[in-house]
Amino acid sequence: MTARSDGPRSGNLSKTEAAARSALISEVRYSVALDLSADEPDFVCQTTVWFRAGADTRTFLDYVGRPALIECNGAQLGPEAFDGTRIHLPVRAGRNVVHVVASAPYSRVGTGLHRFIDPLDGAAYLHTKFEPFDANRVYPCFDQPDLKAVFELQVTAPTGWQVVANSAENAIRQVHGARTRWSFAPTPPLSTYLTAFVAGPYHRLSATHGDIPLALWTRASYLDALKADAEELFELTGRGLDHYRRLFGLAYPFDSYQQVFVPEYAFGAMEHPGCVTFNERFIFRSRVTSESRRRRAEVVLHEMAHMWFGNLVTMRWWDDLWLNESFATLMAAMAQDRVTDFGPAWPSFAHHAEMTARHADQLPTSHPIAVDAQDTDAVRLNFDPLTYRKGAAVLRQLAGELGEPVFAAGIQRYLRRHAWANAELGDFLVALSEAAEVDLAEFSAQWLCRSGVSTVTAAGQARQVQVSRLAEPHSQPRRLRARVGGYRDGPTGLQLLDAVRVELTGFNAQAFWDVLDPDLVLANDDGAGYLKVRLDPVSRRAALDRLSTLVDPMARAVVWGALWDDVLDARLSAREFSTCVLGHCGAEPDVGVLQSLLERAVRACVDFGERANLPSALSVLSAHATRELDAAAPGSDRQLVWARTLASTAGPYQVRLLEELLDDQVPWPGLVVDRDLRWRLLTRLAVVGEVTDELIEASAAADPGGAGDRHALTVRAARGTVSAKDWAWAAMLDGQLSLAERRAVMSGWQQPGQEELLSPRTADYFTALESAWSTYGPEFALSFCRMAYPHATTVEQNVLARTDQALATRKLPRDLGRILAEERAGLAREVAARAYDASSTVVPG
Ligand SMILES: [Zn+2]
Repeated sequence: MTARSDGPRSGNLSKTEAAARSALISEVRYSVALDLSADEPDFVCQTTVWFRAGADTRTFLDYVGRPALIECNGAQLGPEAFDGTRIHLPVRAGRNVVHVVASAPYSRVGTGLHRFIDPLDGAAYLHTKFEPFDANRVYPCFDQPDLKAVFELQVTAPTGWQVVANSAENAIRQVHGARTRWSFAPTPPLSTYLTAFVAGPYHRLSATHGDIPLALWTRASYLDALKADAEELFELTGRGLDHYRRLFGLAYPFDSYQQVFVPEYAFGAMEHPGCVTFNERFIFRSRVTSESRRRRAEVVLHEMAHMWFGNLVTMRWWDDLWLNESFATLMAAMAQDRVTDFGPAWPSFAHHAEMTARHADQLPTSHPIAVDAQDTDAVRLNFDPLTYRKGAAVLRQLAGELGEPVFAAGIQRYLRRHAWANAELGDFLVALSEAAEVDLAEFSAQWLCRSGVSTVTAAGQARQVQVSRLAEPHSQPRRLRARVGGYRDGPTGLQLLDAVRVELTGFNAQAFWDVLDPDLVLANDDGAGYLKVRLDPVSRRAALDRLSTLVDPMARAVVWGALWDDVLDARLSAREFSTCVLGHCGAEPDVGVLQSLLERAVRACVDFGERANLPSALSVLSAHATRELDAAAPGSDRQLVWARTLASTAGPYQVRLLEELLDDQVPWPGLVVDRDLRWRLLTRLAVVGEVTDELIEASAAADPGGAGDRHALTVRAARGTVSAKDWAWAAMLDGQLSLAERRAVMSGWQQPGQEELLSPRTADYFTALESAWSTYGPEFALSFCRMAYPHATTVEQNVLARTDQALATRKLPRDLGRILAEERAGLAREVAARAYDASSTVVPG
């Protein structure tokens, strides 16, 4: 075991401290000069901060590097001014200037200044990631969103590198032999978490949109793949910028739009003004489906919405992180059918976003959308489905009620009023209320300030529909409005006969409609509300039998969601759900929906199905996948989706087939075993058969640049032998590997069918968890807590008891306790669902 090599621990800043500091400090300006030219574990940073203080008093800069010199208003301060996470300053009323020379280590965990060495050519690639509280790992600063400042950045880098930052270069680059100095123009006022730069021998593709310079950046090993998609990305970027300019009524607020794909990025993407960073998984080096392109477009549009909402107008404190993220998520979904060729986003929003939000909302750790973030430590775990997705679903509901034009008018008012400054939820609601001329207090209290999802069912009898609230997280029920559809089964399938809007203020409501004894009654059938829908027994039977005949994709999405909720709630057996998926998914025209249904069918068998039935449940899926592959159009997206399903379900009797596929003997014309599919097949072969080191190494060599090495770690960890698991355990805890590499090991660690092998290691998990935070740092500990939690085990009751013990002692850091509670709830859910599956019989299909 090697302890973490990421230097000093981050500090923590409370909301109260931040409020006091922003009351004291104003007119902040930074000059930051970094030297990245030495091939060292550390980089050097010289920072000058100018600001005005309201009184003669003491304040502090956040910083976790190693200061060599601290000067405040010309006087040098002694080492006692620095306590490890803060530089304490005696300031005077009026203007102050602080100068700090310091060094700090590069990061290997994706936060601060991350350094990646390309194994292909040994070149270093650097990027920053500061949200929520990591700018202070690179330069001393007032690291809080409401002390916006002008930044001037200088970077000295090896000659031949490129440096991308928030603003354009403002001076001639100065080359001094092997070192080159880059200077960037002063930025408009930015929050510290939005400052960013990327450095290394990156390659650029350029374009313009109107007067906005556009660029895409990547490293050499990804350049060809990026070139192939550059036109698509530039066109999307241009259309998106036009769309948002019209919607928000304001020109794009920054001077360029550069999108940089960086290795080992810890997020999907991040919205830095002028320098948006993306995870490299969004450069497609293997064949992908149109769904992958749709999701990439969604991310591009999400980050772009932040340029106005988040970057131009920024939250005052992290309490409003949800508003920032939910808003961008909603804007990206609303933009989809206006900006892209992918059509309306809402069925996929129901399949993915709403489903994961409902799930998170039923965990013991659920919280209101609007949170009281007491300090920056508490923010880290708020990047969750409630913050991004439930918030988006609830804002969508609000936009629907107010009407889109009114909603847009409220947003324009908000953006104009607070441009280049900070604002909070109250300001947003005031702007919307003014535009809509309605009071939003009830909306805010019922939807933003309360956790939990309301469960609703509807049933029809004679010409009456009865709508009932089954479960309500709060004693004062929320006001719900939902459309309810009545469907009749006929020769052409389930046909909508009538729909009524029902308002539910208490627990029950009735309405009359023009349907006599419908076969399917579906609450929220237009998917407009954030609700959990439970089908009555008659309707559920009709859905299981006839789901694919429902014409409306939105109504189908709502039904699929209700059925999956039933699996999670141990009300529908895993085998009945997967039978339903196989029976109906073929008629789903959207390949993204097909893919997510098949992934759910696999999850049903693996996580929620009776253990003893797993081999036969998977063999049903893989046999079905093989038949679909026989029939699929060569080279189609659907062929690829079925091939992936085969790669996640193939059994020991299909080892030969897996080996042939890996040897490029493909029986299905048009199917290419490229990098991505190869790694999927190899991982499965490692579980059900044997994979030699030579084969893994050859595959990694064919996928150079780091990604192949990470996949190789996953395959090695997936192998079902004692020695493979011994190796994987040590690799997970190896501080010499980057977090991305250790996560790759963890993702191979637990495989279905390896329960006997993994069960004896349960105790090791809990022992390692106790010291993970202090030994390896929070980033590793959070990943380890979630990804290595024992799910593939035969001793579930033991795991649940150990978890309860660990939670009861309250010795774990708060964030780990929260993840542990979620994993415990997940395991308990799996145990209950498996028992239900075991007790149920297969419905003839
Ligand atoms: Zn975002």
